Amino acid sequence: MKKLSIAERLGMVNYLNQGKSEAKPHILVNTDICNTECGHKATTRVCPANCYTLDEVGKVHFQFEDCIECGTCMYACDKGAVEWHYPDPEIGRGVKWNFG
Ligand code: SF4
Ligand code: SF4
Repeated sequence: MKKLSIAERLGMVNYLNQGKSEAKPHILVNTDICNTECGHKATTRVCPANCYTLDEVGKVHFQFEDCIECGTCMYACDKGAVEWHYPDPEIGRGVKWNFG
């Protein structure tokens, strides 16, 4: 069996409500805190799905759509900028586990 790269594995993740543009995020990030109080910006380096990015002037941006719910950012952020809510399954977006 072919050994898949991380990128290939991430590409196989399925999501609830993937096609819904109004789907609610399960993670909210206060990027004002990121861009005013955080010197290390750790989540831009530890998120395996690249949801936290730095732009050309060093500002943090977050997008939840590719999140695989690993939970790393919850522990990496020491500034209280990350809020996690399990959304209503009808309108929330999240990983479909168990090969669903
Ligand atoms: S560690 Fe927290 S405050 Fe710093 S960039 Fe990441 S989410 Fe923002
Ligand atoms: S839970 Fe994991 S994949 Fe999702 S944003 Fe946080 S670090 Fe990235």
